[in-house]
Amino acid sequence: MLDMNFIMPTRIIWGRGCVEKNADRLALGKKALIVCGKSSARASGALADVTAALDSLGIDYEIFDKIVENPPVEVCYEGGRKAIASGADFVIGIGGGSPLDAAKAVAAYAADPELGMMDIFTANIEKVLPIAAIPTTAGTGSEVDQAAVLTIGSGKIKKSFKARDTFPKVAFLDAKYTETMNREYTVSTALDAFCHCVESYLSPKSTTISRMFAMRGAQLIYGALGDIAEMDRNVDLRLISNQREPLLAGACMGGIAIGTTGTGFNHPLGYNLTLYKNIPHGRACAAFMGEYFDYNSRDDEGRALIEHFCGGLLGSPDEVAENLVNWADVNLRLTDAEIDEYISNVKGAKNYANSPYVINEAEMREIYAHLFQ
Ligand code: NAP
Ligand code: FE
Repeated sequence: MLDMNFIMPTRIIWGRGCVEKNADRLALGKKALIVCGKSSARASGALADVTAALDSLGIDYEIFDKIVENPPVEVCYEGGRKAIASGADFVIGIGGGSPLDAAKAVAAYAADPELGMMDIFTANIEKVLPIAAIPTTAGTGSEVDQAAVLTIGSGKIKKSFKARDTFPKVAFLDAKYTETMNREYTVSTALDAFCHCVESYLSPKSTTISRMFAMRGAQLIYGALGDIAEMDRNVDLRLISNQREPLLAGACMGGIAIGTTGTGFNHPLGYNLTLYKNIPHGRACAAFMGEYFDYNSRDDEGRALIEHFCGGLLGSPDEVAENLVNWADVNLRLTDAEIDEYISNVKGAKNYANSPYVINEAEMREIYAHLFQ
């Protein structure tokens, strides 16, 4: 059945030198707060391009570079206070998903000084400063979706928020900014993007349009990951450079797809591996791909969607899952007590309902035990 419901209000500007060539598109206000991490915004060259563009437009800015991986809500709140104190009227996020998500939270706090730190998860947020997003990883697609994933509870729980205006107004996609990523992060962020595509494709909320993005994004990413897997592990990063554009485009398409649907159960189950065991987000999600296919195949519609999706990748479901799990390469041993704690952290997530087959708590335990005991 056709379903053409769709919204994605972010202007995407693509290609080498796109910030410099389209500097005027950065002019979302009179003063910017640039939100980024400690090193990658500088190392990738993106920060220098952005500040040069702002200088050329005569737009003032300050830099908040305290964002760490899996951004804690406290740091985002501090960024919001800094935006208010500096008089910023728009926000530019530069970096991987962590700074881009943090920029959305900063933009919400800055637009409403009354918003308390934890209100962001419950309040109906009407005001958000305009956001420009510049990804330096090819993974989360945060540059084109509404969601921001923050960390709460002493860093052991992930919680997302979104508001109508947390969609960035503009996203600049220049693959050269991703070239400084090492092989591990290149693969891990690509695996995240692939998970977005498949989890979106299977979601009951998917539409004809979101499935087009999910399928094409998955094809681009799967092809690039296959090529990278065939290269020597110590390969010079420049040899991966042919994969940078397909990966960035595929990740963006995955972001557009989950903007319509949200993600499935690989995400909450994976969050624990990241927050307790330091497994990067994409590898953590992809480790569950075999189980994701197995459980969803128990539903007729789920099985048909998996076959169609994998057919689009010219592989069987078993082959696709095996490749994903090998590329994720997560080798962990978990105790019963660890599994109990993990499940209590994520059993309330909304993601479980977002798959053809809805797993229950006992099945979450089965999945962790099967993979990691
Ligand atoms: P990230 O957490 O933003 O960054 C991971 C690491 O990579 C950081 O050390 C970062 O350095 C470094 N890095 C980033 N770009 C680089 C570059 N070009 N060269 C060298 N190093 C670079 O990674 P991510 O995987 O993109 O984002 C993961 C986060 O996004 C998680 O918190 C996840 O929950 C969230 N997420 C959000 C969505 C969404 O829909 N909004 C979807 C999926 C995941 P710096 O610290 O210096 O920046
Ligand atoms: Fe993700």
